[in-house]
Amino acid sequence: MKQMTEGATRPFLEIRMESIGGLGANLAGKILSESGVLRQGWNGWYAASYGSEKKGTPVKAFVRFAPPDVAIRGTYPVDEPDVVAVFHEALLRNLSTLSGLRPGGTLLVNTKRSPADIREQVRRGDVKIACVDALGISVREGTRINTAMLGALCHVVPQLDPEAVREGIAETFSARYQHLLEANLRTFEAGRMEVVEEQGSGGPVLSQPDAPTHGSVLGYATQYIGGAILSPGNSVVKDLSVSRQGFIPALDLDSCIHCAACDQVCPDACFVWETRDNGKGRMFQYLVGIDYQYCKGCQKCVVACPTHALSTIPETEEYVQRHRVPHRFWTQKEVIVR
Ligand code: SF4
Ligand code: SF4
Repeated sequence: MKQMTEGATRPFLEIRMESIGGLGANLAGKILSESGVLRQGWNGWYAASYGSEKKGTPVKAFVRFAPPDVAIRGTYPVDEPDVVAVFHEALLRNLSTLSGLRPGGTLLVNTKRSPADIREQVRRGDVKIACVDALGISVREGTRINTAMLGALCHVVPQLDPEAVREGIAETFSARYQHLLEANLRTFEAGRMEVVEEQGSGGPVLSQPDAPTHGSVLGYATQYIGGAILSPGNSVVKDLSVSRQGFIPALDLDSCIHCAACDQVCPDACFVWETRDNGKGRMFQYLVGIDYQYCKGCQKCVVACPTHALSTIPETEEYVQRHRVPHRFWTQKEVIVR
């Protein structure tokens, strides 16, 4: 049996899973904590925070382990984790996802990208970074990504015993979802085998990039006289991309007849239009793209499109960056002129 102290500098192992509702982080945390306590003989504590439990909303799962002779008295969230497991790559855009990650710790991300690429984004030279295409594995096996993430965790965290966690998965799925057992065991193994890791240089935390927010141009110092709100109730600064569960609509403009059926069913006004001359002297609305900042990935537009110009594809950060067509909002000056 693996020991808590193996490779550790303190008598605790703390893991935080950063996820969104529907990806199975809650169940993964339960399986992991039960495996540590029941099969590795550790003391353990587990909790999750998932607000209204809605699919697509941010979820955190916390696991805290200690050796049998060390009591766990803290039942507070894991604020300074040894390991952060990110179930959805888009969560990395929020800098708080990595908050408190200890120097020398481990960051595991569900992504097709390389550890070097992720390191470039998160600007942490002092942690090990591991990447696994958990979504690709789960699509292949018809499962959720949580067991792939557990497999990857067992590979990159030396204290975790893969056999103990595999038994935990087997027990959970035998009891509740027998028909998914074999596929989840394969998903677990694939996560273990396919994870790619890169040690940190031991260097310091690099300077953090600016938070990727659109920000608000109006604050307490720049508010209009009388506190007038010129754009009440809008959701311009919202970023709904973390609500997606690995799939996005892709638009093939060559097949588009600009009928707007997609726009009518989209709950978040993601479609971007442009008014142009239709070549016969009349102005016409043309679809030019999708603003993925507001897309929740519900795929209603794909179902509604009569020409199959929209299709569902697995989401990658690269695709979103390359194909996002941002909405153009009025500047303050334009608003005032109007
Ligand atoms: S529903 Fe399809 S064809 Fe119609 S505007 Fe949208 S993408 Fe184009
Ligand atoms: S997937 Fe849903 S939220 Fe995204 S563009 Fe289509 S209808 Fe809108």
